Amino acid sequence: MARDVYEPCLCGSGRKLKFCCYRALSDIERIDRLLDNNQNRLALQALDDLLKKHANNRWALIHRAFLHQELGQLEEALADVERLLAIDETHPLGVILQARLRLERDGYAKSRGAIQRAFQRAGRKVRDEAASLALEIASRLRMDHPMACRRYLMLAMDLWEDEDYQLEAFLILVRLETDDSVPYPLRGPRELLSPSDESDPPEELRTALKLARVGCFDAAAGLFRKLADQSPENPLYWYNAGLCHAWDANPRRAAEALHRAAGCASDFEDAVEWETLAQLLELSLDEHKTGYVFRCVPTDSASRVISVLDEQLGWPRADLENVKG
Ligand SMILES: [Zn+2]
Repeated sequence: MARDVYEPCLCGSGRKLKFCCYRALSDIERIDRLLDNNQNRLALQALDDLLKKHANNRWALIHRAFLHQELGQLEEALADVERLLAIDETHPLGVILQARLRLERDGYAKSRGAIQRAFQRAGRKVRDEAASLALEIASRLRMDHPMACRRYLMLAMDLWEDEDYQLEAFLILVRLETDDSVPYPLRGPRELLSPSDESDPPEELRTALKLARVGCFDAAAGLFRKLADQSPENPLYWYNAGLCHAWDANPRRAAEALHRAAGCASDFEDAVEWETLAQLLELSLDEHKTGYVFRCVPTDSASRVISVLDEQLGWPRADLENVKG
């Protein structure tokens, strides 16, 4: 059946087929059938051939990137997706896939720029793909950054149109919220503060709240910090900056901002709660964690090991009365 050339293009660019990948349509339909039949090797060869004829074909680039990803070839997948974004920097599937591949290769901290761009540019256009990215981030941050994990789960639930997926994210959220090994302030619900008098909130405040809602936590935190620098006695800006940094898996900066929020809070209970949160986040920093160190201790008897450690290395003894479990 002939396609309507004014339908959105198959590559997911959001353009009309006629002005996008139309010239390679017969090749695309053939490769699509190969992909449907899981003939990945043949499909890869055909995609290579297509890209020799039409170097900028978006459909071929995104599908070769997906295929490379499936085959575990991260660098090749990234090269394709970066080639696609050089032609079309807002390609929704492209920006999501780039963030996903960078996350897989470099971890969250080094890929947060790509992740934010993905949520900002494509979060509302390819919702299920964006939700799946949010869920992947949440599961990676689950152990070390429960606040960030929780927020990304909520973002996934908000983005997903598929109810089964929504339920999956919800169940993970319930498990996190009932996990006694995580201090409650780090796993309980938390929302940004909005100004009580709606008279004339600064434009930047509205932008920051919007950025945080779509998952751009680092950018939102930056704006809240800027507002806080301008009005250092306003706890709302410090608190919001703190939450956004925590959701961005940046406990050090989160704790700094929350200390400031507690310091200028007008309500005593708020001050206590925010200070507690700041201290709990500080405890999660690397330097407070107990790691494992392997050392060879030259001694001829096992009973001497402890005294050798004391004498030679001066290691402190742990206060076991305060260690749980
Ligand atoms: Zn296209």
